[in-house]
Amino acid sequence: MAEFVSPRTAELATRLATVRERIALAADAASRAASDITLIAVTKRFPATDVERLAQLGVTDVGENRLPEASQKRSAVAAPLRWHFVGQVQTNKAKAVASCADQVDTVDRLRLVTALARAADSLARPLDCLVQINLDGTPAGATTRGGAHPDDAMAVADAIADSSHLRLCGVMGMAPLGGDPAAAFALLAATAGRIRSVHPTATTISAGMSGDLEAAISAGATHVRIGTAILGARPDLG
Ligand SMILES: *Cc1c(COP(=O)(O)O)cnc(C)c1O
Repeated sequence: MAEFVSPRTAELATRLATVRERIALAADAASRAASDITLIAVTKRFPATDVERLAQLGVTDVGENRLPEASQKRSAVAAPLRWHFVGQVQTNKAKAVASCADQVDTVDRLRLVTALARAADSLARPLDCLVQINLDGTPAGATTRGGAHPDDAMAVADAIADSSHLRLCGVMGMAPLGGDPAAAFALLAATAGRIRSVHPTATTISAGMSGDLEAAISAGATHVRIGTAILGARPDLG
């Protein structure tokens, strides 16, 4: 007897299949194995029930960008998932983020490394970290949407690698709005290569969202962070 599938689960299954197909085609075009690319479903602003549905559909990694939403959702979801924090982290919220994330994908400054290291030490558990690289082409020191200037990335990576409970896994970046994603992802890949030459286990390149996952995979992304293409248009912030 067929199990009842809710309309929302069916809708998520259809969109997820389309995204997986896009990943497979992009991997194929780049002569890469689709199995080498991890899909992170960015579930921000969607309910915990959607996270449960995605877990049932085989999603292993989810991304959230705000407190307290991330921590409430993690408590509400029973499925074993890897929770990524993909939003900007205020230094005074480092412990709350470390408490609800398995990996922080947005570590972009030394003061945040210090705060996360202290939080992970006090929780006595490991915290995976990516160095977020700013790909906007803004000069070092300018105010940005977040991300370390490519020239400052190594210092952030070194600091993560030096702290006892933080694990340096790689880099993350977002293509600039309205810019050329291929050029941005090439800069990210070059920065990743420099960091990996010093820290060989820092193999993650998290790049690519709903609109540009093909360009990211072509440039070597190991992780793509997909929201809208799986979950639909995000509800406005309340
Ligand atoms: C929201 C978000 C995404 C997903 O964006 P979509 O365009 O909806 O796929 C990816 N990465 C980060 C950091 C985000 O905040």
